[in-house]
This record gives sequence, C-alpha cells and structure tokens, in this order.
Amino acid sequence: MGNSQSHSSEPFTENGVEKYAKFDDDWFAEGASRYAYRGKINSVSMGWFKRSERCVVKLYKEKYSARLKEDAWKADNRASLKAQETSVAFNVHYSGKSSARVEVLTPTISQVKTFAAHKQLVGDPVPKTIRGTHIGRTAKADVMVPEGASVAIERLLPGRYVHFLSNSSYVNPDVDTLVPEAFSHFTYHESEGEILVMDLQGVYNGKSYVFTDPSVHSMEKHGKKFGYYGPADLGVYGVMKFFLDHKCNRLCKGLLTPDTSGIPIEMRGDLIQAIKAIEARSSTTYTYELVVNSGLAAEKLQNLHTEIAQALTKSGSTIPETVC
Ligand SMILES: [Zn+2]
Repeated sequence: MGNSQSHSSEPFTENGVEKYAKFDDDWFAEGASRYAYRGKINSVSMGWFKRSERCVVKLYKEKYSARLKEDAWKADNRASLKAQETSVAFNVHYSGKSSARVEVLTPTISQVKTFAAHKQLVGDPVPKTIRGTHIGRTAKADVMVPEGASVAIERLLPGRYVHFLSNSSYVNPDVDTLVPEAFSHFTYHESEGEILVMDLQGVYNGKSYVFTDPSVHSMEKHGKKFGYYGPADLGVYGVMKFFLDHKCNRLCKGLLTPDTSGIPIEMRGDLIQAIKAIEARSSTTYTYELVVNSGLAAEKLQNLHTEIAQALTKSGSTIPETVC
C-alpha cells in the first residue's frame, strides 16, 4: 500500500467485538458526496492472533451534508438497506431457477475519531487535511478533515471488483450481466413500481454476486423527492431510462414493467427531455447533473417526477397483467 494510515474512526461494535478502522492519509477516489480511502479494520483490544481486515472508508463531505436537511449517510443507508431487503426477496423468488444468488452489503457507519480520544487509543495525532490527487491533475487537494464527520466503512470484498451496471443503464459489455440486469428489473417488480435498484458493482464468485453501494431510483406513490435515496437517485427519470434501454432476459419472465399509457400528453415533452439528459455511462450520474443537462429547473423536475409517478400508478403499472 505504501501510504501511512493516521486517520481513525470512532470504535463500533460488530458481532460483540469492539473495532475501529484506520485509513490512509490520501484518498484514492472522490464522488459527489464522499472521499474514499483504503483502510484496515482492527479490534480495539487487538491480540496477536487477531488479523486486521482490509476495508474502504468513505468520508462524507461536510459541504454536501450541509446542503441537505439530514446527514448525507442516512440517504445512502436507506438505499443499501432497501437493496439488501430486495436481494433477499430475489433469492427466494429465483430459488431453483438456475440463477446465481445476490447479496448487498450494508456499510458500518461511524465518525472520524476526535483528536483527544484518538491520542488515547492509538497514540499518534490526526492530520488536519484531506489529501488526494484529482484525476487528471498532479496537485494534491487539501481540505480540512472534520473530526466527528460521518464515515461509511465497507469491508474489501475478495475477488475481482466489477461494475456490472451503472445508474444510467450502462451495461458492462465485458462481463456476464444477465443476473445483475434481472435483479434490477426484479426490484421494480418486487416493490410494485416503487423503486429500482441500479449501480450494481461488486464481485462474483461463480455462485453469488455481492454488491456494494448500489443506487436506488425512487418512484414512491406519495411524492417523495427523487433524491430520497441519495445523490444518485434519478427518480422516475432513472426508472424510465432503464426500461427504455433494458433488454429483458430469461430471468425477467413475468416481471412487471411500467405502463406509460397513463402519462398525460402535455407532460411527455419534458419527460423525454429529462430522460435524454441521462447519458448511459459507466460512472455514476448524479441528480444535480440531471438538472444541469436537461435544462429544466429543479422544481420543475421534482413536480414532474411526482405527477408521472402518480400517473404510472393510476395507469396500472403495478397490475400483474402488465408483464414483461
Ligand atoms: Zn427485464
């Protein structure tokens, strides 16, 4: 690894054991709301026989959280839990139907250790900067490390990490995506048109897929904002984009698809404009990009999202006759 690891998280309990994560001084990837660091999970009362486990620590940007009315990790956590819940239903539904199993990991949420407590625990000071190299630049980016800031800690999965399907319907052409694509479609079916789980990345071991950090597009019937599941929740626009691009496979048989016949004509122009603004690409597409690229105001997109979600419900998108 080569990097020094002088950041730490607050302790958290896992299977009755108190642990904490140490992580690199330099982040290796940056998203809209988080920086990602390589790290290790250790036991607080580390014995010689206990090994540390490799992990990824994602630090939430203070600036991003400040724009939201709640802590940013809460929306991500909702997305992971929702995806995990649907993966359990997927495994039951496809049991005995020659499909690999799917699993969704949920991260452990903790905070950056505060300086005083950190000294007691590990004995070395916490650097005051967040460092990392921006892609395409050589300069280091220095930002203050907020002690107490939220971090999501994910175990590093053994195996080859693959991005199977992005949240904008990009399908990785180099790997078999039959199960990941069917899983996404299934999440719409299982939730009766309420959500669509996408951005499926993780490892496949020949028998099962383990996904981390999925995105959820919300289409709640009660008009929840399309950012309800975090910055990669593209709402009804992400759902419609998926079904426009998706080619059903043998595992999709009998799954519900949206019935768009109930969408009022006067809304279709803006809807198409918004869907066209989502370019199928491997990297994550964020809600703010939808606003910028569609040329439609955030409020307009929100209202249209709510009205179309309701129109789809009324038109019977959740009635089992509308099947794939
Ligand atoms: Zn399908």
